[in-house]
Amino acid sequence: MAETLIKVDLQDSPYNNPNIHNRWHPDIPMACWVNPGDEFVLETYDWTGGYIKNNDSADDVRDVDLTTVHFLSGPVGVKGAEPGDLLVVDLLDVGAKPDSLWGFNGFFSKKNGGGFLTEHFPEAQKSIWDFHGLYTTSRHVPGVKFAGLIHPGLIGCLPDQKMLDMWNEREVDFIATQPERVPPLANPPFASTAHAGKASGAAKDKVALEGARTVPPREHGGNCDIKDLSRGSKIFFPVYVDGAGLSVGDLHFSQGDGEITFCGAIEMAGWVHMKVTLIKGGMAKYGIKNPIFKPSPITPTYNDYLIFEGISVDEYGKQHYLDVHVAYRQACLNAIEYMTKFGYSKAQAYSILGTAPVQGHISGVVDIPNACATLWLPTQIFEFDINPSASGPVVQDFGGIDVPLSKDL
Ligand code: ZN
Repeated sequence: MAETLIKVDLQDSPYNNPNIHNRWHPDIPMACWVNPGDEFVLETYDWTGGYIKNNDSADDVRDVDLTTVHFLSGPVGVKGAEPGDLLVVDLLDVGAKPDSLWGFNGFFSKKNGGGFLTEHFPEAQKSIWDFHGLYTTSRHVPGVKFAGLIHPGLIGCLPDQKMLDMWNEREVDFIATQPERVPPLANPPFASTAHAGKASGAAKDKVALEGARTVPPREHGGNCDIKDLSRGSKIFFPVYVDGAGLSVGDLHFSQGDGEITFCGAIEMAGWVHMKVTLIKGGMAKYGIKNPIFKPSPITPTYNDYLIFEGISVDEYGKQHYLDVHVAYRQACLNAIEYMTKFGYSKAQAYSILGTAPVQGHISGVVDIPNACATLWLPTQIFEFDINPSASGPVVQDFGGIDVPLSKDL
């Protein structure tokens, strides 16, 4: 096995680990250095740094301070990397920490982050998923079992100062258009919970004050939450600073397209085995502004789906113009409604869409006025027949009306 360059102790706070950071800033010092061609392993916390516990209460999902996330391992400096290069990252393998063979899925309270269907699920909820080698099951969502398509939700290189300033300016300006909105339009820098890695003194203060929050994906990649960015894939990242500064975290055992529950995948602590190489001047050579990647040769072979259509007319009957966000929401709501006919609570069905390898497709965006989005629900993840038939659905008892529910704050 390649050398483990960053280790994490899940019993200890990530704030005590100088090889972890939770903001994007060019002044965060490299945690370690590697040469092009090197293979290495980085261990990671789950995205909340261990705040969410393996129990039957969603109070922790309700109460988690989202200014603390995401806890990332790195940055890793790559010798010889310069702005304008492409950093080629082979995700050779990704796994769960052996001392933590479980993950969590949560819906955030509308007052604390929300989610894709927050109007329908305004309160915090949580389901725990146990890992059995390749497979996962949940005591909170019986009747499904599926193979993990394990991937980092968040991976990218450090921005330079110019790019960071641009991010902050456009997001702060955007927030100012609707400053009272709940949940907010974006998250501005927030100094008091910043973790600047190895930075000290004035640099640490600068990182805390200016460091971009890790929630959105941006030009450098970051929190893209792409389920297909799994072990075996190869990613080409734009480089903005000398050494590139590669960081990774927010590992997911599995996730549906869209990560719709927001704490949306099966979130876990784990490790990533990587190899890095460089394409000198690759950004200009290939016209690359955002990362590109090649998928893994190994993916679970779920090839039978029930596909739910959604159009850009919202659940209140309002017409929207070619809006794929509205259309995908309708496809998801249609799938949830369907699953409840087999005995799932709406929350359990929502959890399935967040965690299982469901596919989301933009199917049509030109047929005015309606966009069409589709939600592909793999039928083979169910331990019973989920298909429609003349005899009607067989209703089962999936252990209660809801997954654990917390009263809102
Ligand atoms: Zn995540």
